[in-house]
Amino acid sequence: ERFVNALKRMRLEIATLKHDIEDSLYNLDPLTGAASRIGMLTKLREELESVRRKVHSCCIAMIDVDKFKAVNDIHGHAAGDQVLVTFAQYILARLRPYDRLFRYGGEEFLLCAADADQLAGRGIIERLRGELASISHESNGKSFYVTVSVGLTLLDPDISVEQSIDRADKALYVAKSAGGNRIILWDASMT
Ligand code: GH3
Ligand code: MG
Ligand code: MG
Repeated sequence: ERFVNALKRMRLEIATLKHDIEDSLYNLDPLTGAASRIGMLTKLREELESVRRKVHSCCIAMIDVDKFKAVNDIHGHAAGDQVLVTFAQYILARLRPYDRLFRYGGEEFLLCAADADQLAGRGIIERLRGELASISHESNGKSFYVTVSVGLTLLDPDISVEQSIDRADKALYVAKSAGGNRIILWDASMT
């Protein structure tokens, strides 16, 4: 009887483990460990509902690695991969429990900072930007530094999540045009 009970417990543990593995397989980006894009819109729409009910505000930041193609060209693709892993792990380790980091694509990440107004969001991201820029990366005994640019906006209760993402994208474009390694807040003049 004890054996049968132990077997049942083991089966249950295996099922839980299997569920956890499948969950990370679907929801985590395998390279960086950031959340994958699959659940991003769902999460952002939940946040938008909270914003609409005035529960809290929510900052979204589109983060793009500067001159990443050159990193790959100069140091190799593997070193480029390692930069993405280092950056994502650095940010993930500093997120508050209700913040989320998604790998949006290639060398772009979307950070969703719930309960942060524009000023708080800017503070969080500005500190991160400075810290990421000071991380020394290494490849073949050579060290190098990599920066990021960020487009920042608040989820606007009056528009869709996609439209807010587009605003963050526009601000990011301005940050890039200004030379990168900076944060730009979206404003209505950015068409
Ligand atoms: P910008 O400063 O304007 O953002 O320039 P950039 O070079 O970062 O941007 P661009 O879009 O020209 O190039 C992005 C590069 O990122 C090209 C692509 O090969 C590389 N990339 C995308 N995903 C990965 C990845 O998972 N690993 C590595 N190593 N490179 C990647
Ligand atoms: Mg890009
Ligand atoms: Mg880039």
